[in-house]
Amino acid sequence: MSRVGINKTRAEDFAIFGANPVFEEPLYVGRPNLGNRWLFLQRVNAALDRCWLTNNGPFVLEFEQRIENRSGVDHAVAVCNATAGLEILARALDLSGEVIVPAFTFIATAHAFRWLGLTPVFCDVDPFTHTIDPRQVETLITPRTSAIVGVHLWGRPCDVDALESLARRHGLKLIFDAAHAFGSSYRGRRVGGFGDAEVFSFHATKSINALEGGAVVTNNAVLASRLRQMRDFGFAGDHDDVIDIGTNGKLNEISAAMGLTLLDSMDDIIAANRQVYRRYLYGLAGIPGIRPVIYDECEHNTFHYVVVEVDEAQAGLSRDQLMEVLRAENVMARRYFYPGCHRAEPYRSDPRYANVVMPVADKLAQRVMALPAGGSVGIDKADAVCRLIRLAVAESAQVRSLFTAQANLAHYQALFTHSENDPCVTVEKTV
Ligand SMILES: *Cc1c(COP(=O)(O)O)cnc(C)c1O
Repeated sequence: MSRVGINKTRAEDFAIFGANPVFEEPLYVGRPNLGNRWLFLQRVNAALDRCWLTNNGPFVLEFEQRIENRSGVDHAVAVCNATAGLEILARALDLSGEVIVPAFTFIATAHAFRWLGLTPVFCDVDPFTHTIDPRQVETLITPRTSAIVGVHLWGRPCDVDALESLARRHGLKLIFDAAHAFGSSYRGRRVGGFGDAEVFSFHATKSINALEGGAVVTNNAVLASRLRQMRDFGFAGDHDDVIDIGTNGKLNEISAAMGLTLLDSMDDIIAANRQVYRRYLYGLAGIPGIRPVIYDECEHNTFHYVVVEVDEAQAGLSRDQLMEVLRAENVMARRYFYPGCHRAEPYRSDPRYANVVMPVADKLAQRVMALPAGGSVGIDKADAVCRLIRLAVAESAQVRSLFTAQANLAHYQALFTHSENDPCVTVEKTV
């Protein structure tokens, strides 16, 4: 299998032009890690035997403790997902008015605040780190601003120091959407304890999953206890005294069982991810217009995302064209955060956002492509994907002309099938 893809040498050999795909089975981005199935099922049985399925069960408590240990933070409050975690956190911090968020992130970063009636104010990102640009944050602060939200995109921490100093100087709350960054570090310190609180996601597609799940983590004990109440309808302690407004953001025992099982193999998962990531770096080196997102290997990261920027001028193919070539080969590469939060509803057609210009986010939304990665892909398949990309770029002129020919053909076919009185069409349909 290590020679996968080597039999393709010209543009005509690509599956998109009719040849056989390199991979018989699709390679997916964000294929869930399953961990040790037997351990998971054993825990599921234990939960069923206890007949304790939710409401601060032993697995949730253990999961919280292990998140605290792993991220070196005092309090982890497990929640049903990170979006609910952001919402509960915004309420617990009494946020109001405007919240500054990056434009290039998963839509939930903005939606969570908008859902509560707050106004997300979009900030552009840094072209190299893909994370919120602190200099622009400063220009967006108004008397209505209550918080800044940094996102550790791809698990690469944003500029925490600059944001902390801004938040301090302007008396703002500071939150980190750390959905990608469980297991990452910033300047030697684990992600989790920065700002007022950080929010991890344990969604199925993240490196460590709890089917659906998340955690709000903080070193602030008062905040942690408010988060616990709000996640549980505002109950204090044992479900007879409601002392605050709340919602239902609890994590269940089966999810926690999955989370624990993945924590058991977290180091192996990271090692496999890192090997595949490094293989990609090696295999993609020197391909014109293909720039991988690089992780600082002096810091911790889960190496869960293998992301490249495609520069059409140099690669000879746009990101979308390259993606079409790959997907026909069963390499299910994906664009991420397209077209940018500011270009998604409800922001796009909200007149308050009419003047929002985000050149870097726009550029990244056009260029960023995530490749299938992690242990389920492995190094041989990663090699083959790199070879495909190298060939597509080398043959880009030919690939483009085949695309054009194909588009022309589709155009004429559409003309004929739409023509009511074309006798050929009627004949074909009756055959
Ligand atoms: C996945 C993700 C979320 C949402 O997490 P859920 O647990 O699915 O709610 C939020 N922000 C970012 C950056 C994400 O990637």
